[in-house]
Amino acid sequence: MSVISVEHVSFDYTDTGGKPVEVLKDISFTAEKDEFVSIVGQSGSGKSTFLRIAAGLMEPKGGRILYNGRELHGIEPHLSFVFQDFALMPWLTNRENVKIGLSASKESDDRKDRLAEDLLGKFGLKDFVDAYPNALSGGMKQRVGIARAIASNPSVLLMDEPFSSLDELTAEELRKDIVKLLKNRTIAVQSAIMVTHNVEEAIELSDKIVIFSSKPTVVTATQSVRLKYPRDKYSKEFKVATESVLAYLSEDAKKEAMQASK
Ligand code: ADP
Ligand code: MG
Repeated sequence: MSVISVEHVSFDYTDTGGKPVEVLKDISFTAEKDEFVSIVGQSGSGKSTFLRIAAGLMEPKGGRILYNGRELHGIEPHLSFVFQDFALMPWLTNRENVKIGLSASKESDDRKDRLAEDLLGKFGLKDFVDAYPNALSGGMKQRVGIARAIASNPSVLLMDEPFSSLDELTAEELRKDIVKLLKNRTIAVQSAIMVTHNVEEAIELSDKIVIFSSKPTVVTATQSVRLKYPRDKYSKEFKVATESVLAYLSEDAKKEAMQASK
C-alpha cells in the first residue's frame, strides 16, 4: 500500500466576481514508503494549493487523498508541514518554536525541552537552543522550521519550496543535510513530498518527480530518478535526468526552472 495516494484531486478558487477559477484539474500520483517525491511546475500551477489540500488545510473539490489507505479529511497529525518562509514565532526561543511541534504530545514539559534540544543539536544548532529566531541566518531558521516539523515523528513530511528563500550556497548546504538525515534515517519519516520550481533541486533530492502542467493543472509526467545519493550535480547522469524532466515543461516553466538554479 502507498503511504500517500492522490486520486483525481481537483480544486477551484473563486475569483472576486464569484466565478470559479479552475486551478487543479486532475492530479493523481502516489508516494511510497521511503520515497522522496518532488512536485515541479511553474509558478501559478497550483503546487502550494495542492500541498495545502494534502495537509488538510483545504478540502479538494473532487477526488481524494489516502494516507495508508485511509481517506484524509482535515488535519492529520502524522503529516507535517515545512513552510517556505519558516513561519517561526519571533517571540519564542528556538527551543519553544520546536516545542510547538510537540504540542499534541503527552510527554512532560521537561522531556519536551530535552527532545527539542536534541533535535536542534541534530541540525547543528546546539549553541542556539535558547536564542530567538532573529539571531539566526535564513538557513538556520529553516533548520528550526524542519526540526519543528519532525518533532512529532510524522510519517509524512510536506515541504513547500523549503529552500527557495535561502541564498544558493545556504540552500545547497541544507539540501545536502536533508539528504543525509533522510537517507541515513536520522529522521524517521516514511515519505517526503516537496514542491519546487527548481528542477535541479528536485533531481538532487527525489526518488520520483511529478511534473505539473500549467493551470488547469494535470500531471504531465511522473519520472523516477534512480541515481545513488548523495548526487553530484556536475555528473553526466545528473544532467541527463535534469534534461529529461525539463523536456516535459513548457518554455516558461523551463526558464523559471533554470533561473532558480543559477
Ligand atoms: P504555485 O504554488 O504553483 O505557484 P498556487 O497554488 O499558489 O501556485 O496558486 C495557483 C493559482 O491559484 C494561481 O493562479 C493563484 O493566483 C491562484 N490562487 C492562489 N491562492 C488563491 C486564493 N486564495 N484565491 C484565489 N486564487 C488563488
Ligand atoms: Mg507556491
